[in-house]
Amino acid sequence: PALRQVAVFGATGSIGASALDVIARHPDRLRARVLAAGSNVAALVALCVRHRPDDAVIADPAGFAALRDGLRAVGLPTRAHAGPEALEAFAAAPECDTVVAAIVGAAGLPSTLAAARAGKRLLLANKESLVLAGELLMRHAQAAGSEIIPIDSEHSAIFQCLRSCDASRGVRRVILTASGGPFRGRSRAELADVTPAQAVAHPKWSMGPKISVDSATLMNKGLEVIEAHHLFGLEAERIGVWVHPQSLVHSLVEFVDGSTLAQMGLPDMRTTLAVGLAWPERVDSGVAGLDLLQQGRLDFEAPDLTAFPCLALAWEAMRAGGTAPAILNAANEVAVDAFLAGKIAFLAIPALVQHALSTLPSTNADTLEALLAADADARRITAAALTRQTAHA
Ligand code: NDP
Ligand code: MG
Repeated sequence: PALRQVAVFGATGSIGASALDVIARHPDRLRARVLAAGSNVAALVALCVRHRPDDAVIADPAGFAALRDGLRAVGLPTRAHAGPEALEAFAAAPECDTVVAAIVGAAGLPSTLAAARAGKRLLLANKESLVLAGELLMRHAQAAGSEIIPIDSEHSAIFQCLRSCDASRGVRRVILTASGGPFRGRSRAELADVTPAQAVAHPKWSMGPKISVDSATLMNKGLEVIEAHHLFGLEAERIGVWVHPQSLVHSLVEFVDGSTLAQMGLPDMRTTLAVGLAWPERVDSGVAGLDLLQQGRLDFEAPDLTAFPCLALAWEAMRAGGTAPAILNAANEVAVDAFLAGKIAFLAIPALVQHALSTLPSTNADTLEALLAADADARRITAAALTRQTAHA
């Protein structure tokens, strides 16, 4: 196979590490050509030493000199770049055919969109960009012939199951599985005092802090329902959620003939990254196979929407459409940051998201400007609500 030239956005994060691990296993077919991060210059330089990309990009403009000097100090020819414009430019640069979109949050939208518009193979982990601007992103990808391969494990599972046939008219519904997070089985009252450290201690997956909190509130599953809606063109009624604490069945597709297909594997993101990097071939990802004899059993249960209202809020925002999902996502990002910083309680996260959704009207969302304005409004009113709340506490 031809050598794939890969740009890894969010290289210093959890998904970035998994992507680079798979790439490094296949030097004959994969090369990390561009590495990009947010502000952690030291971590980016260390990755450059290991993977020797042509270009390194730091989103924080203030990081430029440190990145340039850091690369020089270790004697690397890698070129240094900084700023959001450089990020966007490299997402569309002709040197790369594949972009791993693994920046966390709405901050990933401009580069994700740029990669789609440039017709890249887009390995999409940055789910927030689909929640914020799903229609726009899918439209641009289709127009430019960009092949979007989902990296989120549930959507990778559905993607793989759908490729078993001409599935265009035969799908009855999809079921996203959810681990239930660290607080599965707790009542609402039992969630009042949980700490950030408890919330990020996920029982099955090792992930960055933001998505770990989202998994604990079940907002992650809500974002994933919206993600599935855009990726696979499915309406709300045809997307279900089952809690599956073992995290071995990554999602299921039910067809009209009564067949249900599932994709299974150990919870390790290197599998879905290997799927995306090598598709339609399969390559070694370093992940062991699944021994169901040793696992013993698989359990499934309905999600508890009373203790975890974020999932219901996301469904509501998706049904409302327009700017509602953008508002939901932005309010959630602000609330999760505040929770991680120890400023608000766990249950204030759904309360703040609800506040943003009920305060801001959902309007039409045909343009990027309208979506970004909704995102900014939601951040502002959530920050204001947060200040009032911490002032009263
Ligand atoms: P991490 O927090 O581990 O990593 C986030 C990455 O984004 C870092 O490389 C960080 O750089 C970079 N970044 C942060 N802010 C900016 C910015 N403003 N501009 C450019 N880069 C920025 O997150 P994860 O790897 O866990 O998650 C990444 C994405 O993948 C999220 O959207 C998440 O929902 C999704 N995802 C993750 C899964 C997982 O297993 N981790 C599973 C499924 C989806 P720096 O280090 O410099 O701050
Ligand atoms: Mg997922």
